[in-house]
Amino acid sequence: QNSVLEVEGLGVRFRTEEGDVPAVQGASFSVQRGEVLCIVGESGCGKSITSLSVMGLLPDSAKAEGSIRFDGNDLLAMSQEEIRQIRGNEVSMIFQEPMTSLNPVFTVGFQVMEPLVIHRKLSKREAYEEAVRLLEQVGIPDPRKRMEQYPHELSGGMRQRVMIAIALSCQPKLLIADEPTTALDVTIQAQILDLILKLKEETGMGVVLITHDMGVVAETADRVVVMYAGKVVEEADAETLFQDPKHPYTKGLLRSMPSVDDETYALEPIPGKLPKPGEMPQGCPFHPRCDDAMDRCRVESPRVFTVGPGHTSRCWLGEEEKQNHAGKSVG
Ligand code: SF4
Ligand code: MG
Repeated sequence: QNSVLEVEGLGVRFRTEEGDVPAVQGASFSVQRGEVLCIVGESGCGKSITSLSVMGLLPDSAKAEGSIRFDGNDLLAMSQEEIRQIRGNEVSMIFQEPMTSLNPVFTVGFQVMEPLVIHRKLSKREAYEEAVRLLEQVGIPDPRKRMEQYPHELSGGMRQRVMIAIALSCQPKLLIADEPTTALDVTIQAQILDLILKLKEETGMGVVLITHDMGVVAETADRVVVMYAGKVVEEADAETLFQDPKHPYTKGLLRSMPSVDDETYALEPIPGKLPKPGEMPQGCPFHPRCDDAMDRCRVESPRVFTVGPGHTSRCWLGEEEKQNHAGKSVG
């Protein structure tokens, strides 16, 4: 097994005045070395909470259960100090640009060098040369000059490259990127995604890429986890997910994705809204928005069905699908 991350039965609840509210329930997935796993879903579906759990960065009001194994060790069983070690050394995270912005009062060079001195114990001189190399690696022209500049002197795309350089500085085995290109314009977005793919090839790190955008998934994913209302509703390799999606929610996401090849393809947003965690409908949480909803969907929450090799769907339609699949593989 080459898994760098294995998440099993992850649940996250938030304590609120109205009682515990589940934000993530029974999420399971794994990430292999050199693989991009995309977690896709609408804002509020639990994808960011899932990634914060992996980073050990949940707020105090949240409680996580299940297991998150990083390189075989269970993060949920570790002390804060042990998690900090891993976070500084083996797992890195980048965010949507405005959220994480660099510290405006320090130069780019200072901020890229800092983790090299603290975590990799390089001398100032070594850290300087390594920082220059990292800025080159992320495609920043004239890195020695950039080292002296402040974040406001850089464009949004350049700042995100600097963030990626900082994330790479600890030579992580896993990079978690939460909407890394959402704040950037389309051209820069494509460049940053290409950069992440290139770095993945060069370093062999695993990547968890969190996005609401199926276009980003199509560009980058090896495997895809689709989340809805705090649950993983479908998982498959990227090719299968795009060719043969099973869950009605995934199909809806794909219909709402603009297509470059097919100009007749109409954009069709999924009607209705994601339910709030405290206001889950009974049965399948997607049923108020689902064209395929059956009577049982309004009362019984669907189980996870294996609908193909490495392909699962949390939908009652999968029950039939499963029989077809079993039938096919036998006959
Ligand atoms: Fe739709 Fe029913 Fe499947 Fe839910 S379980 S996605 S309501 S068909
Ligand atoms: Mg988010």
